[in-house]
Amino acid sequence: MLTRPIDPPHRLLMGPGPINADPRVLRAMSAQLVGQYDPVMTAYMNETMALYREVFRTGNEATLVIDGTSRAGIEAALISLIEPGDRVLVPVFGRFGHLLREIAERCQAEVVLREVEWGAVFTSEAIERAIVETRPKVLALVQGDTSTTMCQPLDEIGEICRRHDVLFYTDVTASLGGNAFEMDAWGVDAATAGLQKCLAGPAGSSPISLSPRAVERIRSRASVEAGLRGEGEAAGCARRIRSNYFDLAMILDYWSEKRLNHHTEATTMLYGARECARLLVEEGIQSAIERHRLHGSAMLAGVIGLGLEVFGDVEHKMNNVVGVYIPDGVDGEALRGALLSDYAIEIGTSFGPLHGRIWRIGTMGYNARKDTVLTTLAALEQVLRQAGVPVTGGGGVGAAQEIYQQERNG
Ligand SMILES: *Cc1c(COP(=O)(O)O)cnc(C)c1O
Repeated sequence: MLTRPIDPPHRLLMGPGPINADPRVLRAMSAQLVGQYDPVMTAYMNETMALYREVFRTGNEATLVIDGTSRAGIEAALISLIEPGDRVLVPVFGRFGHLLREIAERCQAEVVLREVEWGAVFTSEAIERAIVETRPKVLALVQGDTSTTMCQPLDEIGEICRRHDVLFYTDVTASLGGNAFEMDAWGVDAATAGLQKCLAGPAGSSPISLSPRAVERIRSRASVEAGLRGEGEAAGCARRIRSNYFDLAMILDYWSEKRLNHHTEATTMLYGARECARLLVEEGIQSAIERHRLHGSAMLAGVIGLGLEVFGDVEHKMNNVVGVYIPDGVDGEALRGALLSDYAIEIGTSFGPLHGRIWRIGTMGYNARKDTVLTTLAALEQVLRQAGVPVTGGGGVGAAQEIYQQERNG
């Protein structure tokens, strides 16, 4: 039997990511390939760098995309910044903090952890205290951890890191484009992201930006592959970065005017990443954040209007995802299944200590819209009712509409 072509059914992805890609991103990704060093391609690479400088709100020359999902960006940043034996401080407030810890351990760092319970964030004072106590070389901290829906305030962390001579890395995969992020104003040294959250694209490309301080650390470990070295040129230092694919010193050379060969830039993903950033810049970063705030507030009001209880410290909730407790006696997975099969709407389950306790509902990227919020709340009301939960008729949609009404009345 001949396998049929790929033709996925309609789905409305209202989980914590991935979400439906903006059709304009998909169209950009259907364009024909050009050669790796074609001036058209290298111009696209330069344009992508310039666009992501705006998205990250930075003047960092070293702003580009890593081929691979968000985790590839994290690995590239950490393996290139951390030398074996370096002490790395990881404040953990959810699943992705544990991921940073795990990757830092594989970089052979001496990892020290600080933890708060899931649903909370760290104060700047707590982070400074931990830095004073542990004297790390690198601080690795998530901004928006979708596992708990919390957004860690970062605006004071960079200044603290400078004072104590610590390099500051942050994972902004889930938050960039939907929550304020100021790479330069906040003194961040390295930040990495992905496309499948607020950037409205597919997983597979990881935007990254590095401060001059971070680039200096990375360049001090530069090495050149044997087949590319000139006569008598040294191989590079003994502290060589312990990954070839994620060697940011080499990747920076490839993205610089030297265009020193490394991997082949994933052309189709680059088209997608460029279009994601182009759309954000066209909308205005501030407007995009405001859009996520509005639709996130409407979804929050809606789930409360349905009588559901919200998870975590709502003061520090990310704009683009909300966690709600699964009502007593309800089979969370059966209800998610009913939403998917009857309404083609996907919402998220959760990990670790929250598994089976909360659902996570996203409003991000292309799906941060009024129609998606209202449709999801209307369908959620019906499946809750079907599961025997006493819900207020129209309570979800009504509460969300009130938020939109208030917005219109300014
Ligand atoms: C979603 C998410 C990721 C995802 O990583 P992928 O490699 O793209 O799956 C990483 N970090 C955070 C904080 C996330 O929310």
